[in-house]
Amino acid sequence: MVNEIIKLNCISYERNNKKIIAIDNLSFDRGAIYGLIGPNGAGKSTLIKVASLLDSPTTGEINFDGQIITNNKIPLELRRKISVVFQQPLMLSDSVYNNISVSLKLRGYSRFEIRHKTEYWMEQFGISHLSNRNAKNLSGGEAQRVSLARAFVTDPEILFLDEPFSALDLPTKRVLIKDIEKVLSTTNITTILVSHDYNEIKYLCNKVVLLVDGKINSVTDIQNLKYQQFTGEVADFMNEWMSPL
Ligand code: ADP
Ligand code: MG
Repeated sequence: MVNEIIKLNCISYERNNKKIIAIDNLSFDRGAIYGLIGPNGAGKSTLIKVASLLDSPTTGEINFDGQIITNNKIPLELRRKISVVFQQPLMLSDSVYNNISVSLKLRGYSRFEIRHKTEYWMEQFGISHLSNRNAKNLSGGEAQRVSLARAFVTDPEILFLDEPFSALDLPTKRVLIKDIEKVLSTTNITTILVSHDYNEIKYLCNKVVLLVDGKINSVTDIQNLKYQQFTGEVADFMNEWMSPL
């Protein structure tokens, strides 16, 4: 088993003749938890879409767990190793239980396994009591818990979280971050979290990937971040980002 679960080689993503991202080399180590940071419009969400195989790069190749992915040919078993959570939870107008279990049904699990896994993950995220509620009528925090349970229920190898807490109020966010930390510490899921919040990243992540103007500026262990030298506008951004309110 290779230590790097995803490797991006010479990836670009272009729209309207503009390179939104241009990444020579970036790899994610198995089991590590990455914070992906960078100014607004740096290309973080685009990178998440490309690395999670939701969108194809314009050029370059992605090596996923030793397998090279060429455009538009993504084996289903690879896609099933990936879960993605966005800032705005995407809910079906159906019960919480069905929203979480739907992807297990698609994977052909038995009814017993579906119930066991769905109940387990509802419990992990403290939403068992919402099982029969329509997922369209939840608070922001509850809905994000459903999204997370849905992301974990399929037992992914990689989890992408694109600003999952940004729309939540501070107390809701704090409790949820603690719950996620607990869950992540019991799994070995490679996680890539986009966030604007230094405290959140410091709390959850081992490594920080800094993206500036669509390019990788640096990949740093979280404990070394304060010693890292940045220059110019990037230094301004990092100082601002790391400074307390
Ligand atoms: P971030 O998540 O870091 O804020 P994004 O990846 O959302 O950045 O976007 C990076 C830049 O690319 C932005 O200027 C955005 O407007 C542009 N962009 C993203 N997707 C598209 C697209 N499909 N077509 C045209 N421009 C896009
Ligand atoms: Mg974004």
